[in-house]
Amino acid sequence: MPLENIAILVQDLTKQYKKTNSAALKGLSFHVRQGEIFGYLGPNGAGKTTTIRIMAGLSQPTEGLCQIFGKNTVDYSGLHNDLGVVFEESNLYERLSGLENLRFFARLHGVPLDRAKDLLYQYGLEGAAKKPIGTYSKGMKRRLLICRALLHDPRVLIMDEPTSGLDPTSAGVIHNAILQYRKQGKTVFLSTHDMAEADSLCHRVAFINQGEIAALDEPQILKRRFGKPALVVEFSPDSKDPHAAAALEKHAADAGFTLKQETGEVHKIHIPLDRQGLGAKLDWLSHRGQILTIHSQEASLGQVFQNVTGAHLQDKSPHIMDP
Ligand code: ATP
Repeated sequence: MPLENIAILVQDLTKQYKKTNSAALKGLSFHVRQGEIFGYLGPNGAGKTTTIRIMAGLSQPTEGLCQIFGKNTVDYSGLHNDLGVVFEESNLYERLSGLENLRFFARLHGVPLDRAKDLLYQYGLEGAAKKPIGTYSKGMKRRLLICRALLHDPRVLIMDEPTSGLDPTSAGVIHNAILQYRKQGKTVFLSTHDMAEADSLCHRVAFINQGEIAALDEPQILKRRFGKPALVVEFSPDSKDPHAAAALEKHAADAGFTLKQETGEVHKIHIPLDRQGLGAKLDWLSHRGQILTIHSQEASLGQVFQNVTGAHLQDKSPHIMDP
């Protein structure tokens, strides 16, 4: 890929904090293309924030290189025009209003002050513009943080967990903001724990684990490679047959499908789609009770996460159910 199409370049990046035995980043290499929404996923302590701090010029790598549009992030002075960063923690002044906060940062960036009002309007904060941000909800503060990061109209937006702790409506507003921003040909680097968010927004995702890239590709490709699509069957064993439930358990173990008792006599059965003899399994079930519902369950990024990082994921999204 031509270098000018690369927004973020990370090469052999290593970070060793003082007084720690193991390096937080162990020779990371990847690039983010211009105009891409790139997801950065990994368990707690994997090294995501460390990477972002180096990208934002707030921390120096021990070895290796990080560039934003060809500029080394070690030299922050060359960076700030190209880069907007939304940190998980607020870097705003609680006692000032939303408008005062944005005007303060607009002056720092040499941006026309009207831009502050425009952004507050765009992000639905015009009604609260003159209120101290100490009175804002979490969702409003996150939107204001995005406004602050976009004040100088940067080409690259780096976001650290922008929707963590937000309700689905507030998260949706931020998702729309990301998509709108990307529509202008800009680049988003999105660190998140929300697999459904990454799946729906990102062109490519990288999984980082213990300071190393464990997998990197398009979500669809990773799901195909590491995910486990399944057929989910709700089944009620024949109530007249006293051995039906025991036979079902034995058959499940032999045939390799997972059995979960739902309410009463109804079992939810996950049959992996990679197994042979799907028809025979359904046939077996239909002779020993009643099949109530059948639906297919797509492989999920949550499964990819568990497979490539070995970490257990607390996933809230309804379509992610692990057998
Ligand atoms: P989380 O999802 O919990 O935010 P993370 O992926 O952002 O985690 P980092 O915060 O980058 O992970 O931490 C990576 C490793 O570096 C961890 O082992 C952490 O304890 C260590 N670490 C981070 N900051 C420092 C520091 N200032 N000094 C020493 N060790 C640190």
